[in-house]
Amino acid sequence: DAFIVKVSQAKALNAFLVETPDHAIAAAKEADSARAAGEALKPLAGVPIGMKDLFCTKGVASTAASHILEGFTPPYESTVSGKLWDAGAGMLGKLNMDQFAMGSSNETSAFGNVISPWRRADGGNAPLAPGGSSGGSSAAIAARLCPAATGTDTGGSIRQPAAFTGISGIKPTYGRCSRWGVVAFASSLDQAGPMARDVRDCAIMLEAMSGFDPKDATSLELDVPKWEQSLSGNLRGKRVGIPKEYRVDNMPAEIDALWQQGIDWLKDAGAEIVEVSLPHTKYALPAYYIIAPAEASSNLARYDGVRYGLRDLPDGANLQDMYAATRAAGFGPEVKRRILIGTYVLSAGFYDAYYTQAQKVRTLIARDFDRAWESCDLLLTPTAPSAAFALGEKLADPLAMYLNDVFTVPSSLAGLPAMSVPGGLDMGGLPLGLQIIGKALDEQGVLNAGLALE
Ligand code: GLN
Repeated sequence: DAFIVKVSQAKALNAFLVETPDHAIAAAKEADSARAAGEALKPLAGVPIGMKDLFCTKGVASTAASHILEGFTPPYESTVSGKLWDAGAGMLGKLNMDQFAMGSSNETSAFGNVISPWRRADGGNAPLAPGGSSGGSSAAIAARLCPAATGTDTGGSIRQPAAFTGISGIKPTYGRCSRWGVVAFASSLDQAGPMARDVRDCAIMLEAMSGFDPKDATSLELDVPKWEQSLSGNLRGKRVGIPKEYRVDNMPAEIDALWQQGIDWLKDAGAEIVEVSLPHTKYALPAYYIIAPAEASSNLARYDGVRYGLRDLPDGANLQDMYAATRAAGFGPEVKRRILIGTYVLSAGFYDAYYTQAQKVRTLIARDFDRAWESCDLLLTPTAPSAAFALGEKLADPLAMYLNDVFTVPSSLAGLPAMSVPGGLDMGGLPLGLQIIGKALDEQGVLNAGLALE
């Protein structure tokens, strides 16, 4: 009974922007007839999943939770969603998210924030953030509205919402999942990945979502490993590094305790624990918040009122006025902030001081990881520096919001696979996540450690 959420409660979470029950029913029927005919079932036969609204879905409105894409119905299917349908899954609907995937709380959505199904046990009934940007995905799974969903992760948007809602999610190595048909935020960082209730479901979903795609120039031309088949929580012979720079100032004692608990669990699974250093960690956030907005300002130039969605054409307006009016009306404040930062750091006088510098820092951060891999196979850290915060709490302070990404952005800058799994509850009874980071292409190692922590 605990898993049954009333329809009215489900709607109140505001997790779905569009509902597509017919799509899910068709997949279920196909699975039924295959079963009746004694045919082999596809890996996701009949599984009803949620699709983050960043994925273009043929014939189904896709807005990236922005007014500027209102009225846009893609005439094509993203590679990842297409692969999921090929694997037998069906779509329950399009999931709410932070607008253009910019945010950590789902509050930048143009269609209202998502509410986490969790409440603090120690009083204070303030509605909580489901995390972001894949907050519709995390809330829907945590509330048992769907068993799995897609997410995307540019600087933590799969891992942080998974941590906030007590579910699992993995961002694979950059290039594993095609970006074709995924609305672009910061192309050198964007990766799709699965979110689900446990590690095994994530492995099954990720297998269906991954694979080479000639339509994405950064797609890796590699076979998809059989992650689910090779899952093992036995970590004997594995060395797990604990990066000392992740012990940030003012880290709550319960996050520290969670981390120690994770260390003990991994030891129980046979892993050897070693301390490692990632000396440039403190520069990751500033570098990320230069590179991601720079790429976003370029990617979002395409929303001009001509090609997609919204057009605001005031009386007597010329083309220039139409661009300005459309973008003023269509983008939310956080998106505008990113575009302004991005155009500033890319402008002629400041490019070297900010953008070039940030790219150099990115290289140093990637090298930190390379050096760490000389003494360990995986890294264990907390996923976020806190449990879910109340909606509205950080809205007026963008920097406080950005700081929530402190543990997730370094691996994003380095393109490495990283996963969040539930680690326990804080004093208020809210879920906390543990993050495992792996070497490039070692999703297996990450998933195995995730299983050991489960
Ligand atoms: N919170 C980060 C940001 O706002 C990460 C978002 C993401 O991974 N899409 O940029």
